[in-house]
Amino acid sequence: TKLIIGLTGGIGSGKTAVSTLFSQKGIDVIDADIVAREVVEIGTPALSRIAEHFGPAILSADGSLDRAALRKTIFSDPAAKQWLEALLHPLIAEETRRQLAHVSSPYGLYVSPLLVEMGQQNYCQRLLIVDVSEDTQLQRTMNRDNNDRAQVERIMASQANRRQRREAADDIIDNSGDLASLAVQVDRLHAHYLTLAKELS
Ligand code: ATP
Repeated sequence: TKLIIGLTGGIGSGKTAVSTLFSQKGIDVIDADIVAREVVEIGTPALSRIAEHFGPAILSADGSLDRAALRKTIFSDPAAKQWLEALLHPLIAEETRRQLAHVSSPYGLYVSPLLVEMGQQNYCQRLLIVDVSEDTQLQRTMNRDNNDRAQVERIMASQANRRQRREAADDIIDNSGDLASLAVQVDRLHAHYLTLAKELS
């Protein structure tokens, strides 16, 4: 089986910036957030089940899932949340495995914000962490999203902390510098992963 590198880091740490650099080297990237959206796209059985269960108000005018409405519904209803997770988790797991099995580059990158929190290490053999200070995380996220500080801090508090991530990591990218410094580190890791992938095959 193919070498899969798990990439994670807190909100605004630079996962997308890093995965874009790997992708530019021809490495296949599987993104957990995208998979989670794909399983409820228009026309999927899961979306029909959700619309049956919660009613048509859960859909937007174009028939796609109204994520804000769904979030609101499950926020105040633990049973609804449980029902939704029981539906989606197996589908997401199946689709993730399908996409990972189709990796055609020498190794693959599986990107998820929750690799440390949810123990999704079963999808990957090695864990790569994007590491920045909490101040930098906060600043970059606020600049990007126009979110207020309290909102970003709430999300950060719900995620694993820097020490927990660093302890779980096999490899660490330091994203405290500029994008050029990020690219240099990705170059070095890419060479390393190619060697590991060769040893595996
Ligand atoms: P999320 O978990 O919210 O999806 P992420 O981990 O994917 O975030 P990015 O979106 O890659 O993080 O980065 C957060 C923001 O910081 C983006 O606006 C990005 O352009 C910027 N950024 C990332 N790395 C750097 C860097 N080294 N220097 C300056 N800005 C950066």
